[in-house]
Amino acid sequence: MMKKKNRPADKIQDLQYFGEFGGVNPSIADSTTFTYLAGKTMHDVFEGNREGCYLYSRHTNPSTSYLGQAIAEMEETEGSILTSSGMAAITTTILELCNSGDEIISSQTIYGGSFAFMQNYLPKYNIETHFVDTTNIDEIKNKINKKTKLIYCETMSNPLLEVSDIRSISKLAKAHNIKLIVDNTFTPMIFTPKELGADIIIHSLTKFINGTSDTVGGIICSDEEFISSLIDVNSGSAMLLGPVMDSMRAASILKNLRTLHIRMKKHSENAKYLSEKFFSDGISVIYPGLKNHPQNDLMLQQMNKEFGFGGMLVIDMKTKEAANLLMEEMQAINLGYLAVSLGFYKTLFSAPSHSTSSEIPENERKNIGLSDGLVRISIGLDNDIERTYKLMKKCIKKVNSF
Ligand SMILES: *Cc1c(COP(=O)(O)O)cnc(C)c1O
Repeated sequence: MMKKKNRPADKIQDLQYFGEFGGVNPSIADSTTFTYLAGKTMHDVFEGNREGCYLYSRHTNPSTSYLGQAIAEMEETEGSILTSSGMAAITTTILELCNSGDEIISSQTIYGGSFAFMQNYLPKYNIETHFVDTTNIDEIKNKINKKTKLIYCETMSNPLLEVSDIRSISKLAKAHNIKLIVDNTFTPMIFTPKELGADIIIHSLTKFINGTSDTVGGIICSDEEFISSLIDVNSGSAMLLGPVMDSMRAASILKNLRTLHIRMKKHSENAKYLSEKFFSDGISVIYPGLKNHPQNDLMLQQMNKEFGFGGMLVIDMKTKEAANLLMEEMQAINLGYLAVSLGFYKTLFSAPSHSTSSEIPENERKNIGLSDGLVRISIGLDNDIERTYKLMKKCIKKVNSF
């Protein structure tokens, strides 16, 4: 077997995009509409008979195409559609696939907004979601029936950092002709879900991929057939709901994408260092790179190892008060910011049970092990991680001594 290389990064490195004057960055297509020399050509484009022609920027735009192609290369899919947010990517995909009366099987530990959409919004259209523990394949199997349209999970769940067995889930999905949608937001480059059998891969670009916490964005990556259906002028969800990304933003995200491989390695290296130190100190820490993590072996089998186990780690402070105190202490000495979101150069921390996962009802949170004392930490690109460790440990000790 060929040795697995640094593939997702190589694919981006290999792209050659020149600007119209030979600029090393492609020119930004700052136009909503594009001129035609002949009426017939425009008609042909509307009929979908001409590749490579731009018509109107809600359909496609050269700048969004560049970014879309680059991320599709990274994810090894035939195509992609950029959206204005991660939620837009998720909702557009699900609305494209599901009709009234259909059913969804979803992981129970997903992003709060995704949970709320399936639990509270989709019933309006008579679409029902079964939330299960997707790390247990039998739970998925038990919910499959003739109405099941799709299975939904995250490569690494938010906020508990459980790792999905994409390979096994995709086998099950394929056997029943069900689409598997995977949200890869926490682990770009680390996982290539397509290679593991996923049909549709979604990212919130807002997080690691953009990495500068200045832009909200999303993407849907899939095969040509699904992407075409999304942008069908008569019936496509992306075309008709119109959740498009602006060309200026697409151009700036493309520039950040080029350093994603370096950033992911550093985020992972720092998070692994801290988690191992905390673990040996007896601090309650969740990190998929630790041997005691329930899916550590599984992750090793499915990941692109060069990029590590990701930049997210979770510390369980047991109570809400201790969690809040720890975050305030850490912010006070400039270890990072008490803020939601992830993938920034600076460490970001929040307590998921009363922020990003607060959409999940309290009894549900208890069921899935989402305790009130969890602090979710997106580890930054700190150069001196040993110094960070010492300061962070001091904060934890201080809070625990109260
Ligand atoms: C942030 C996030 C989303 C939503 O993305 P937005 O860009 O905020 O709309 C979806 N899934 C995961 C895993 C996320 O972390």
